[in-house]
Amino acid sequence: MFVHGYASMIANNLLECGEKLIVKNLERGMHRCDISVIRGGIHLEKLLYPGGKKKVFTVSYDDGVTQDVRFVELLNQYGIKGTFNLNSELMRSEFAWVHESGMVVKRLPPSAALGLYDGHEIASHSLTHPYFEGKPREFILHEMGQDRDNLRRLFGQEVSGFAAPFDYWSPLMAEAAKDCGFAYARISEESHSYDPPEDPYYWRPGIFHLDGELDQFVDGFLETDTELAICQIVGHSYDLDAEDMWGQMENIFRRVSRAEDVAFMTNIEIVRYLTSRVGLRALN
Ligand SMILES: [Zn+2]
Repeated sequence: MFVHGYASMIANNLLECGEKLIVKNLERGMHRCDISVIRGGIHLEKLLYPGGKKKVFTVSYDDGVTQDVRFVELLNQYGIKGTFNLNSELMRSEFAWVHESGMVVKRLPPSAALGLYDGHEIASHSLTHPYFEGKPREFILHEMGQDRDNLRRLFGQEVSGFAAPFDYWSPLMAEAAKDCGFAYARISEESHSYDPPEDPYYWRPGIFHLDGELDQFVDGFLETDTELAICQIVGHSYDLDAEDMWGQMENIFRRVSRAEDVAFMTNIEIVRYLTSRVGLRALN
């Protein structure tokens, strides 16, 4: 019998309870392509993403800066879906700062952001991008909840994801994200892994785009056999200007777009899919 990863979890359940449960699970929405019964034993194949794809590629980009215009164009050209994590208050005030390269990094105002991200996910990155360490719960709830409300109103769509500003995350923040109604929180720490998240409120992305191993990480993704593999690249599009990385990024998009076993989804689509298929949920 072949069992692997999530499939083995389901297999153990089925083995304990007998064949009747197999039928029950199939009725509950498991696809027949995932499970087949062979001569009284159970043969489980790996779970798949929509369209029968083995893995999923996505990008999660922060801050809503002017370079997102070029970045979104590139995503659209290759049929890749991304999640854009915005700070509604900094959009309103058209916040700008000087990068160490001397480049002025500017936020897109609401008028320029409207329509740009169509087909991609809008997620919250907090109202004003504060460093949250040591901040009280009320402050965190306001920064998350008010940003969610503002973005919902501005874009006229549901906002169900949160991406941590800077590199700080804590149980208090995970709790606040849940209380604000977010379905997941993507944190900053890289996992350097293709595994699906174990807890949607501590979702570590695969790799930050300035990591020197970026190309090798994508190579590994295209070759991996990890069940429900995810390659999530995170970053800020202004880095592509500052580090002259547009060509490298386009090369990655070209390669993944040609791979036949790769699905393209936003973070909320991935979380909703994993929630329904493998029962992804908060651990605490
Ligand atoms: Zn940020």
